[in-house]
Amino acid sequence: MPEGILYGTGDIIMDLKELAKKIIPDTDLIDPDKYEDQYPERGLPKGAEVTRLAPSPTGFIHLGNLYSALADERAAHVSGGIFYLRIEDTDAKRKVDGAVESVINSLRYFGLKFDEGAETQSRTNFYGPYYQRKRVKIYRAFAKKLIEEGRAYPCFCTEEDLGEIRALQTERKETPGYYGEYARCRNLTPEEICANIDAGKPYVIRLKSMGDSNVKHTFKDVIKGEITVPENSQDIVILKSDGIPTYHFAHAIDDHFMRTTLVIRGEEWLSSLPIHLELFSVLGFKPPRYAHTSSLMKMDGESKRKLSKRKDPELSLEYYRSEGYLPVAVMKYLMTILNSGFEEWYRKNPDADWRDYNFKVEKMGKSGILFDLDKLKDISRDEISRMDPEDVYGFLAEWARDYGTEADKAHFKDKDCMLQILNLIMGTSSKKRRKDIETGLQFTQLTSYFFDDTYNPELHYAFPDEAVNTMIQTFAGLYDINDDNSAWFAKVKVAAKAAGFAAEASEYKASPESFIGSVSDAAGVLRTAITGSPNSPDLCTIMKILGTERSLKRLAAGLRK
Ligand code: GLU
Repeated sequence: MPEGILYGTGDIIMDLKELAKKIIPDTDLIDPDKYEDQYPERGLPKGAEVTRLAPSPTGFIHLGNLYSALADERAAHVSGGIFYLRIEDTDAKRKVDGAVESVINSLRYFGLKFDEGAETQSRTNFYGPYYQRKRVKIYRAFAKKLIEEGRAYPCFCTEEDLGEIRALQTERKETPGYYGEYARCRNLTPEEICANIDAGKPYVIRLKSMGDSNVKHTFKDVIKGEITVPENSQDIVILKSDGIPTYHFAHAIDDHFMRTTLVIRGEEWLSSLPIHLELFSVLGFKPPRYAHTSSLMKMDGESKRKLSKRKDPELSLEYYRSEGYLPVAVMKYLMTILNSGFEEWYRKNPDADWRDYNFKVEKMGKSGILFDLDKLKDISRDEISRMDPEDVYGFLAEWARDYGTEADKAHFKDKDCMLQILNLIMGTSSKKRRKDIETGLQFTQLTSYFFDDTYNPELHYAFPDEAVNTMIQTFAGLYDINDDNSAWFAKVKVAAKAAGFAAEASEYKASPESFIGSVSDAAGVLRTAITGSPNSPDLCTIMKILGTERSLKRLAAGLRK
């Protein structure tokens, strides 16, 4: 409808400009076209992507958000672009205090930083404000413009009216929603509109859709490829009755004026794409490119299902922090599920910075991405094994400070002792370290025998009481903390022989029936008494770390009654 055309057929003839002023009477709105100058094109090199994370401040930030944020961050940074943070706080009911800080801190913990946006103090923060509630003037200016152009209108329908419409549509088996003949307020006359407003009736502003849902277009999604998208025909709400925009309207305006080039968001938004395309068109904006990411799934028995907030603690990012996963391990794991080529590249370039990988949004998975915690654990073990024990100590001590028990905190205060334990568990050869440490929590379980003197080793011996006692007593009588490994082992052999074990592996091999067990079985008895398990890292070193007094006490406690 051309601008300025007279609207309505009632007694009051009003031009649309006047009507728009009645509907949106704000006096502080500026000419919407001015925003084009205020938020100019960014002038980045060709191909540079501008991406954003646009969370609602609900306080729950999950693995899917991190997955998406990593895709955003990589897409921006491999192309020399900008990754910014916008807070979608239009829904006051869902707002949780401290949620923005928590998003920023969580992402920072995993090594993701925003170049621009909410709370960033960046020098390029020219495209703000980055909180939607602070942008209401912009949205209202554009809503007014759409009313002036005959492409938006006020709707006074109450909840009951909408309920009636829904009931009618259900009865007629028609698509639900506010459209066509069901859009009761679409053709109100100016006098009806003015009368309603003067009577103080609350109203929302709706888009006057010109689409036909039977008409379909091909659309190229960056991840999903070519998809068929019907035209939108719904007169969706663009401003709610409190004057705040809906997600749809704010998305079109913000991503245009913040000059987003690529919108990466969950596939649950695909069904809203027709609305967004119509909004961009009616606003006269060029839409960004869209990349709809697939949901994260997990195996549940034989079948795959979506990760669920209720059932799967691993969906929450807090899980990875409280368990003590190395952040870089989580990021590298996410890279393997973001781009399947990453793993092979990384195998070939094990010492490269993972950020050197040439990430491509178009290579992201088209459907259900399988999240496999065991694989993450493997990566985590591998990552930790490549670190210096001193750095592992630093990471674990920080984890213990934030998430450990009081006992963990106390243990980590003794850095010297912890480094000895780490050297023992990881091995001293910096070229080939053992891959036994997975997470902070698992480390405390793995090493609990160093700290807990109260376990009961009795249950685990596989040899007669008499042999066990002779073995332990003989060895305890000979033990000297200053012995090196070979002197220590010579004493194990002496005790083994006294208890009826073979002192030499070769003797045992030649005639196993002559002994109650081998020398390693004999050492296993000591191991059980000291650590509670017949398997442990080097026992001589464990005993040195424990010290003579605790070692002997444990040996004594390990005797069979
Ligand atoms: N605020 C939306 C959400 O949290 C953002 C979706 C988008 O990225 O456009 O789901």
